[in-house]
Amino acid sequence: MSTSLIHPVIKFALHTPELTELASVLTVGLQKSFKSASARVVDCPDLTEKPFRLAAPGICGSPRLADVGGPPFLLPEVQREKIYNIETLSKMMELPGAFCIGAGAGPGHHEGVNAEMMCNLNLKDANGHQTYLAKVDPVDGKCILKQTQSTEFMLMANLLCSEGKPGKVLEIKASERTVDDNFPTTIRKILKEKYGDKPVSLAGVFIVETGKAKLHVMPDFSCQPINTVKDLNNWLRFYEVDAPLICLGELISHDPNLDLREEHFHCFSDHGEGGHYHYDITPNEVSYRAYFSVPETLYRIDKPTNVLTFGKD
Ligand code: ZN
Repeated sequence: MSTSLIHPVIKFALHTPELTELASVLTVGLQKSFKSASARVVDCPDLTEKPFRLAAPGICGSPRLADVGGPPFLLPEVQREKIYNIETLSKMMELPGAFCIGAGAGPGHHEGVNAEMMCNLNLKDANGHQTYLAKVDPVDGKCILKQTQSTEFMLMANLLCSEGKPGKVLEIKASERTVDDNFPTTIRKILKEKYGDKPVSLAGVFIVETGKAKLHVMPDFSCQPINTVKDLNNWLRFYEVDAPLICLGELISHDPNLDLREEHFHCFSDHGEGGHYHYDITPNEVSYRAYFSVPETLYRIDKPTNVLTFGKD
């Protein structure tokens, strides 16, 4: 098994409204979905500090989005040869030495088992590898959260790559959810309504500050093909996890026919749990705080040729 050095790539310019415009659009929209909500333009807080503990101080400087591979490489049967190197990807994105954060499948070929990846890698910094993995304990079924030094992953990822600099970002605060949609879905739909078929992406970090969230973690690859949503849900392990949770990833308001993941966030914590964020399960107690950049360019890397016909989680 070897890492391919070159993958097919499609480069796409995203729509990038002014931050001030996004702040006012999102404030109005989120106030219909949360009891309290606001969005404003701020200087990015130092993301290396607690509670974020990211590998670079900011998410500014040439923000670019990578949508790599996809669920068709996992389902119905895993394609183990789908291995990606983040350093290679950063060069393909014309941003060598990038700071990359986001959600993906882990380096199962190094780990020995399948895992969820919370990518937190600053390629410019020798100490800048603070990526977490979540996996399922095969003995008791509990979630295991650990760090990795691998710069590779398998199958799929949705990453924000930037120069990791401080700068202006969008800060969103929202608490007490009053609608069924989760936090990123609500934001995505507000942007879709405003911008239609012009794709607008927000990417970075949000924290579930209070409440509980439903996460999943992939166990090791299934020996049986996974053909239905029921098979998938029987295979995945679901957890109800306490805040605070630090969630890394992206959302995009419109898919310009590139089989994009519309939203994908993975989270870690300092209490030993993490995984793929689905939604909070405590609408009356939940509060969110987000810092997002607006990616200028999308790189669709190694797009699967077949489309998955059931759930994309
Ligand atoms: Zn995921």
